[in-house]
Amino acid sequence: MGLADLHQCLALRERGAERHPLDRALLLAAAAVPEIAWADRPLGARDAALLTLRCEWFGPAFEAQVACPACGEALTFTLDLNDFAQRAPRDEAPVTVGAARFRRPTSRDLAALVNAVDVDAAAQRLLERLALDGVRAWSAEERTAIEAALDAADPLAHVTLDLACTYCAHPWSAPLDIAASLWDEFAAQADRLLDDVHLLAGAYGWSESEILALPPARRQRYIERVLS
Ligand SMILES: [Zn+2]
Repeated sequence: MGLADLHQCLALRERGAERHPLDRALLLAAAAVPEIAWADRPLGARDAALLTLRCEWFGPAFEAQVACPACGEALTFTLDLNDFAQRAPRDEAPVTVGAARFRRPTSRDLAALVNAVDVDAAAQRLLERLALDGVRAWSAEERTAIEAALDAADPLAHVTLDLACTYCAHPWSAPLDIAASLWDEFAAQADRLLDDVHLLAGAYGWSESEILALPPARRQRYIERVLS
């Protein structure tokens, strides 16, 4: 799906509005490649598709704002998402830790744990879903080792940014949620489009379909006239 298909953009925005972030990620992945059953694909494969979609829709430069956790200053930095796309997993083979093999977690695995309140119990249940050679109770140390091996095999599944404050030099790490970021950008774009429709419909009495059918440059010129 392209951003130029305005009716589809608005429909996708509405489908995702009340949905869980996991569902939104799957809606976006389906917009990228509808033929794939994304719920059952590894998270890194899903997010590689979302990165490609993000670059198609908005380009590879990603500007982010964060507050320094030490001094509170607002920081802006720009990432080149092409760097992350290169971390897409090259294969989806099971990960071996000791004598046991584990498949890589999928959106469906995370969805099964969405209502878990106990972190340890959720981690155990996740490994039970992923274990290919039998289930047992894993110690906290074993779980950490298995999770590290899974992360290493699928680096896009958990992207962490190493940041340093330009004001106080404080270093810290922050997760980058590719799916949530893309949804926020997409939703903001769709909401701006609705604002445009609202403005032009009020000014000229045109229908939504008539406004969406305008070439973008001409729509923008009418908006400028209404606002001037
Ligand atoms: Zn700082």
